[in-house]
Amino acid sequence: VASACENTATTLEPVVPTKLSEKETVDDGKIKIGFSMDTLEEERWLRDRDLFKAAVEDLGAEVKILAANGDDAEQVLQAEKLIAEGVDLLVVVPHNAEATAAIVNKAHLAGIRVISYDRLVKNSDIDLYVSFDNEKVGELQAEAITKLVPKGKYVYIGGAETDNNAHLFKKGVFNVLQPLIDKGDITVVYDEWTRNWLPDNAFANMEAALAGNNNDIDAVIAANDATAGKVIEALEKQGLAGKIPVAGQDAELLAAQRIVQGTQTMTVYKPIQTLAQEVAELAVRMAKGEYIDTDRKVNNGKIEVPSVLLAPIAVDKENMDETVIRDGFHTREDVYR
Ligand code: BGC
Repeated sequence: VASACENTATTLEPVVPTKLSEKETVDDGKIKIGFSMDTLEEERWLRDRDLFKAAVEDLGAEVKILAANGDDAEQVLQAEKLIAEGVDLLVVVPHNAEATAAIVNKAHLAGIRVISYDRLVKNSDIDLYVSFDNEKVGELQAEAITKLVPKGKYVYIGGAETDNNAHLFKKGVFNVLQPLIDKGDITVVYDEWTRNWLPDNAFANMEAALAGNNNDIDAVIAANDATAGKVIEALEKQGLAGKIPVAGQDAELLAAQRIVQGTQTMTVYKPIQTLAQEVAELAVRMAKGEYIDTDRKVNNGKIEVPSVLLAPIAVDKENMDETVIRDGFHTREDVYR
């Protein structure tokens, strides 16, 4: 008995400050949302971070944000940290569609629901998915480019194979290309994923596409603007920039500038302000205990996930002013600098 008492006394010694005390310091009665991001590399993700934070705070809640630099294990650790700190709900932009299922399981064990932001977490019981219609993104790209190049040799520079969106973008592109391929009008002479979405990998792929075809290509569809920028750099090296249509996605400032200058043909604008606002509102409602159902469901390999899919918008030289500039996504001054 005596030794048991001693043991009890020992455990009552002052504890070293750990996660528990962190939890106490943020526990001010406000709803707390955790935002686990893959990366802050592309321009868009900085915008997502800032807009989401502002939207959550406008709703009187708090948000704690961690970004994992494209590291799967790190993203899981960071999510665990957010769970341990006592967030009421977790919002996740998965780096890896499969690996992040572990985050959903861990959150659910702690009684915390999880929203998939922009990218779907696959094979998990994710509670809600809010994104754009990503298949449509690819369709918009291919529609714009096939209008200019109805026949010829196409290069497809895909996104990261580990990102579910990359598969949807590609599916959309081939929805449009396949009938033209079947007719014999279009040949896809190069088609590769871009590992981890890294622009340098896209550059290497584009160089390989050019070398493998003796520069004889007619059009390029790149999965986003960061990769399109590198495609154009590779074309420039061969004196081909501005001569071969290139599609991208994200309406990044550099892409908008390339479009008005003529080296990039189009981009796909996804109003991130709407995405961030929508997720912030739903996150706070869910954190308060509300259940959200949606008409739209997306299968993630395990369940039919309630989903909200916003509309993407094709942008070229012609409608730059009435889309990204009108929305204040970029200023006219910045685009036509
Ligand atoms: C997003 C794109 C982004 C890409 C690379 C995709 O999941 O939907 O907007 O360019 O990831 O970060």
